[in-house]
Amino acid sequence: MTVQTNPELTSRKNAAIAKGVGMSTQIYAAKAENAEIWDQNGKRFIDFAAGIAVVNTGHRHPKVIEAVKKQLDCFTHTCHQVVPYENYVVLAERLNAKVPGDFEKKTIFTTTGAEAVENAVKIARHYTGRSGVIAFAGGFHGRTFMTMTLTGKTAPYKVGFGPMMNDVWHLPYPNELHGISMEDSLEALTRLFKSDADPSRIAAIILEPVQGEGGFVPAPEGFMKKIREICDENGIMMIADEVQTGFARTGKLFAMEHHGVAADITTMAKGLGGGLPISAVTGRAEVMDHAQPGGLGGTYAGNPLSVAAANAVLDVIEEEDLCARAERLGGRLKQRLAAVADKVPEIVEIRGPGFMNAVEFNVAGTKTPNPDFVKKVVEEALERGLILITCGVYGNVIRFLAPLTIQDAVFDEALDIIEASILAAKKG
Ligand code: PMP
Repeated sequence: MTVQTNPELTSRKNAAIAKGVGMSTQIYAAKAENAEIWDQNGKRFIDFAAGIAVVNTGHRHPKVIEAVKKQLDCFTHTCHQVVPYENYVVLAERLNAKVPGDFEKKTIFTTTGAEAVENAVKIARHYTGRSGVIAFAGGFHGRTFMTMTLTGKTAPYKVGFGPMMNDVWHLPYPNELHGISMEDSLEALTRLFKSDADPSRIAAIILEPVQGEGGFVPAPEGFMKKIREICDENGIMMIADEVQTGFARTGKLFAMEHHGVAADITTMAKGLGGGLPISAVTGRAEVMDHAQPGGLGGTYAGNPLSVAAANAVLDVIEEEDLCARAERLGGRLKQRLAAVADKVPEIVEIRGPGFMNAVEFNVAGTKTPNPDFVKKVVEEALERGLILITCGVYGNVIRFLAPLTIQDAVFDEALDIIEASILAAKKG
C-alpha cells in the first residue's frame, strides 16, 4: 500500500484492531462533504466508494443532516418495540409504496444489510413452513452465519469459520463473460431440484439483481422473470437483495424495476440511511405478517436518528431526481472508459446499469483475470487523490460508486484521474 498519510496511526490501528477487519486504504477521515473526504493532514480525496454504496446522496447531505439534528433534539432512542414513534411508521408506509410489487406490503426495520437478509430468510421460512434456501455463486449477503452461508464466495468470507448453516444451495449466476449463460443457470436449478433439493422444501431463492461484491454483474434480461415463474410454480419466496443496488444507484429506485418483476420480499440497507445505519425488509403483507409478535425486531432496529435520515434520503432522491442523474453520470463514465479501453487491451468489459458501473481486467489477450493490474490502478488513483474500490470473485474488477450528488467539476476531475491511473498502470 503506497499511500500512508499517517503511519503512526496505522501502527496503532494494527496494534488495536483485529486484522480480520480488512481495510482498503490507510487514510484516516477527518471530514467529508458530498463526494470529497479530507484526512487528518488536510489532504483531500475524491470518494468513489461512498462508504460502499451508502452515501448515494453524498456525505452530510444538508437535508439529511438537518433531519438528524432535528431528531437529536427530540429523542435518540426509545426502542420502537417499547415506545413507538411516527417517523418509523411514515418510513414503512413510504417503502411499502415504493418497493416494486402491485400488492399490499409491510415492512420491518433492522440495522445492517446482513440483518435484513437474516430476517428475510426467517420470514420466508415462517411463511412457507420450509427450510431450504437457494442462493448464487458470487453473491454476497453478509457476514453473519446465515448470510455468510448464503454468500457465494469462500475466501475470505467463509474460510476458517466452521460449518455453514444447512439447507442452503448455490447455483451459478449468469455471467456471459465467464462462460455462464442464463440457460446454464436455469438448467443448474432444474438439476438441483432433481438431484438434491425437492422444490417442496425450498422456502426461498435469494439473489441480487446486480451482483455487487461478486463483480457488478447484472442479471441478464429475462432471468428475473424466469426465477419469478419458478418461484410461483413451486410456492417459493423470491427474495431480492437490493442492499447494494437500491436507492437510485442503478438509475431506478430499485434495480428490480429494470426487470418488470416484483420479489415477494426485498432487502434494503446502505443507501437508505444516507450514512446512518438502517436496513429494511419489505414484502407481501401476508408473508411479512406470518411471524408471531416478538419473533422479529431488535433493540436498535429502526433507530430514530437513522429513520429521520432515511426519510430525508427519500425526499432528496425525488427532489434532485437522482435516478436520472445516475443514468447521466454512468453514461459519461462508461463513455470515458470505452475510450481508454481502445488503448488498454487488459480491459475486457465495461458494464453496469445507471451509475453502478464496473470495469473488468484480464491479462491482455487472455481469459486470465488480472487482479495485479487492478491493484496498480487503485494505487495510482489513490496517489492522485481518488478513492476506488474493487470487487469480483477474482478481484479483477474496479467498481465505481461515487455519490449520485457529486458536483460536475469533481466528477470531471475524477474521470481524468481514472484515465491517468489506468494508463499509468498500463505503463507499469
Ligand atoms: N447484501 C448485499 C447485496 C451487500 O452488498 C451487502 C454488503 N456489501 C450485504 C448484504 C451486507 O450488508 P452489511 O455489511 O450492512 O451487513
